[in-house]
Amino acid sequence: MAEKVIRKRSSPTGRPNLRDYERECARFDWGKASEQLSGLPGGAGLNIAHEAVDRHVAQGRGGHVALRCVRREGGATSVSYLDLARWTNQFAGVLRRLGVEREERVFTLLGRCPELYVTALGTLKNLSVFCPLFSAFGPEPVEQRLRLGDARVLVTTEALYRRKVAASRDGLPQLEHVLIVGPRAADLPGTMGFEQMVDAAPQTFTIPPTDPEAMALLHFTSGTTGTPKGAVHVHQAVVAHHVTAGYALDLHPDDVYWCTADPGWVTGTSYGIIAPLTHGVTVVVDEGDFDTRRWYRILADERVSVWYTAPTAVRMLMRATPRGGPYDLPRSFDLSALRFIASVGEPLNPQAVVWGDEVLGLPVHDNWWQTETGCIMIANFAACDIRPGSMGRPLPGVKAAVLQQGPDGRAAVVDGKVTVVERPGVDGELALRPGWPSMFRGYLHDRQRYDASFADGWYLTGDLVREDADGYFWFVGRADDVIKSAGHLIGPFEVESALMEHPAVAEAGVIGKPDEVAGTIVKAFVSLKPGHVADGALENELLAFARRRLGPAVAPREIAFDQNLPKTRSGKVMRRLLRARELGLPEGDISTLETAGLVGSGAESEGSR
Ligand code: AMP
Repeated sequence: MAEKVIRKRSSPTGRPNLRDYERECARFDWGKASEQLSGLPGGAGLNIAHEAVDRHVAQGRGGHVALRCVRREGGATSVSYLDLARWTNQFAGVLRRLGVEREERVFTLLGRCPELYVTALGTLKNLSVFCPLFSAFGPEPVEQRLRLGDARVLVTTEALYRRKVAASRDGLPQLEHVLIVGPRAADLPGTMGFEQMVDAAPQTFTIPPTDPEAMALLHFTSGTTGTPKGAVHVHQAVVAHHVTAGYALDLHPDDVYWCTADPGWVTGTSYGIIAPLTHGVTVVVDEGDFDTRRWYRILADERVSVWYTAPTAVRMLMRATPRGGPYDLPRSFDLSALRFIASVGEPLNPQAVVWGDEVLGLPVHDNWWQTETGCIMIANFAACDIRPGSMGRPLPGVKAAVLQQGPDGRAAVVDGKVTVVERPGVDGELALRPGWPSMFRGYLHDRQRYDASFADGWYLTGDLVREDADGYFWFVGRADDVIKSAGHLIGPFEVESALMEHPAVAEAGVIGKPDEVAGTIVKAFVSLKPGHVADGALENELLAFARRRLGPAVAPREIAFDQNLPKTRSGKVMRRLLRARELGLPEGDISTLETAGLVGSGAESEGSR
């Protein structure tokens, strides 16, 4: 553990939302916290879109800028809360006209354009379910998620539709409506123009009474084995989105806030759309991709005050602006509006926290959560000391514990009971006591996997952590085989299955390999069918094959040939041994693997979690 502590500063706002951690934890109550939101008029329930948009208009802030969309080629457009209210009303009206019912799924496969935000919020107004897909997914992950999620509507662009959906459309009979954003060729069968439909819809829409427990969001995530899991979240989740953004991101209504996560991942929805809008802030949306200069320019030009990003992005900036080296690049931009930086999604190395402090004048506040929790669970707060390398402490209203591990690396469950590790500094599985509003309510169509996520009244996260004597949590690694690469959660099974569709591949085993910038990269080991030669040409062909099917975010970056892949007695490829060999760790010593402090380390799980 790092010795260094970065002392809390006085907040530039002079009024951080969380001032006294212990006091706030002692007095916090979720029921009371929900009073920060208004609910639908006339006590008609709780709807995320009302809290995020219409409430501000009703309170006289309709003219405030809700979205500030920076175009890929430069320039930006502003969408006020009133514009957004009308636009989302229109989209809700389109869904109603198409006969799309409550709880039916509306998917997006879009870049970060305003229509993505309109679709998300309009869908919620219609009481349908919003399910975002990452636009860099290849056709296979897209098709699988559309099928598993029973997509009834898809909003996408012509290019993405042609490349990733058209070929599988016939096999998706439940996908009735495809709305195309932007230009659309007249000969694109089975699609409608988004703009034309929206323009023809009325600007008013009354949100129907909304049961806070009604399904609102579906986010796909990956496990060690099997198909992706669709985590179900309900409208009540908005209470947790709002409260945690207040505590962990210190949002205030006048902030200009930039969350760099794509809404195709849970962070980009919970904290890229919902939470900031419930605080009435201006949300910066960048259509473009990462580029050091572009990012510094956006921070400066848009006068960003709160910035929520990812450790990989911080490390990429660090590479361009080395600590101890010339700081000319960030100093050539006016970053004086910036007052708070946070990151999430993968381990944030202590050097990155300190780099922020020294180069940008602000430390990076790490926080932890996952798709299933729906909101930030553990965080470093504006008004608390930071221990670089630690994820921070549980939020008020969140009870976290470290559970003793069993032989498979996961929490040991004996006769239905788990054991909470009481001593500080001992590794174990991170567990959370359910009860916060954005806790997932199930995996779609998969009760068994949902039930397997709980034991003895705890939700088991699959992460290994340790807690220090002052209640700070430190990330140790994953207890299963899922891979976090550049902040994206990847199921090795999905990658192995795609590789095995290639005619040359007999078997595949996929692991996470440590990488200085991305944290972890995906590496595949494959054995070949007879008659195929393991050479550079085949390696390139397999890399390209996987990339075409899975997309660049998921596909392996390295492939190695191995005709003797290690297997369990039941014939399953032993990823943990592949990983041990790759890392030069003793093959038999699993405990060494589990405490190596590397993302993706841990024992192979035979279970279905
Ligand atoms: P996802 O469900 O895609 O958001 O991924 C959640 C997983 O990302 C967690 O279970 C962790 O393994 C990892 N993760 C999230 N935040 C952090 C963090 N601050 N430090 C280390 N790992 C993290």
